[in-house]
Amino acid sequence: MNKQYSEAEYKKIVPKLVAKMKADGEYGEFFPVEYSPYGYNESTASEYYPLSREEVLAKGWRWQDDLPGTRGQETLPPENISDTIQDVPATIEQEILACQCGKNYKLIPQEVVFYRQQNLPIPRFCPFCRHLERIALRNPRRLYHRQCMCEQSGHQHTGKCAVEFETTYAPDRPERVYCETCYQKEIY
Ligand SMILES: [Zn+2]
Ligand SMILES: [Zn+2]
Ligand SMILES: [Zn+2]
Repeated sequence: MNKQYSEAEYKKIVPKLVAKMKADGEYGEFFPVEYSPYGYNESTASEYYPLSREEVLAKGWRWQDDLPGTRGQETLPPENISDTIQDVPATIEQEILACQCGKNYKLIPQEVVFYRQQNLPIPRFCPFCRHLERIALRNPRRLYHRQCMCEQSGHQHTGKCAVEFETTYAPDRPERVYCETCYQKEIY
C-alpha cells in the first residue's frame, strides 16, 4: 500500500489485505520478528529467552555479529587496579578499563565518588556484563509445576501438604517452596 489510492480503490483493497493477514495469523499482532532491523542478540528478548546464533538463524531471524563496542584500547590493565578504593588514584577517571569480555569501559566522576563514599571496589566488569549478572540473579521466565514441601504439623494437612502450584523455582533448586496457606502460616 506504499502509494496513493483513490478512496474507492482503497476501500476495495483494505478488506483483501485484512483477510490475507488474518489468514496468515499476522493481523493485530506485533511486526514479525524476521522484519526487525535489530539482531536478536541486541534485543531485551535475548536476556529473558537466550538463544544461540544457530537457533536464531534457523528461525529466520537476524543476528548481529558486529556488536558495537571498543576493544583493545585499555590504558590500565585490571591487575594494576587496587581492590582498596582508597588506594585508587583520582586519575582512574581518565583511564580506559578492560572487562573480561574484552570490551573497554570507563568510569564517570560521579560513579567514582559513589564508590569512595560507599567504600566499594572499582567494578571489574563492563556495564553490559554487570547488567547480565543482575539479570542472572532473577528467576527465569518460566513456570514449573510443583508440590508444596511443607511437612509441619498444625496446618490443614497431615504429613506432607498435597497442594500443587506453578512456581518460577525449578525442582532442582535448594529453596523450599510452600503453597500460599502454608507460607502464610509459617511467616505470621
Ligand atoms: Zn564485559
Ligand atoms: Zn502447603
Ligand atoms: Zn503446611
